[in-house]
Amino acid sequence: MERFSLINKGEILLWHDIPELIKLINKIDSLFRDFSDIFDESKRLAQQIKSYLLEIDPFIDAYAKKVCSSCTNICCLNKNSRYEYDDIIYILALRENFPIPKKNLEEKEPCYLLSEKGCIIPRYIRPFRCNWYLCDNLLKEMESAPARVFREFSNTFNKILQTRQQMLNSFFQSLCNI
Ligand code: SF4
Ligand code: SF4
Repeated sequence: MERFSLINKGEILLWHDIPELIKLINKIDSLFRDFSDIFDESKRLAQQIKSYLLEIDPFIDAYAKKVCSSCTNICCLNKNSRYEYDDIIYILALRENFPIPKKNLEEKEPCYLLSEKGCIIPRYIRPFRCNWYLCDNLLKEMESAPARVFREFSNTFNKILQTRQQMLNSFFQSLCNI
């Protein structure tokens, strides 16, 4: 069981120790690589989450474009963008590359994934907190959408939350079968 002891809960606190972060990522990646069949269900659920995120992406994007471009207090800072252990499991279950920072991250600096044109990675592999955080202005703007459209967004978001929990349960259950 020693090899799983690095998997924890909550925010990853290794942003000042990138080699250790890489070690953690490689450890989880090796589980999906070496025990691929055992994690089939987790991988399937991760794909489902991805498809839900792709579904809501145009809706969030359209409204974010309206409000974020004139925002004077941009929330994309390293301290707000920290991935959690659950995010790593999800990204590696998708068999995607985890976006490793090139250097240690300072909390108050702009997020290492932010460019002049906005976030450089697709929504479905962003830290989950980036997807659920909607500031008051953005939320207000989104609520101005037709009721049906907003309801569909909200329903899909709830499905993401449920499926994410199922994926994590499945992952930890599969670990017991190794
Ligand atoms: S989500 Fe809100 S706080 Fe963040 S950049 Fe957009 S408008 Fe600004
Ligand atoms: S990951 Fe993308 S959306 Fe999240 S804080 Fe960084 S730049 Fe912003």
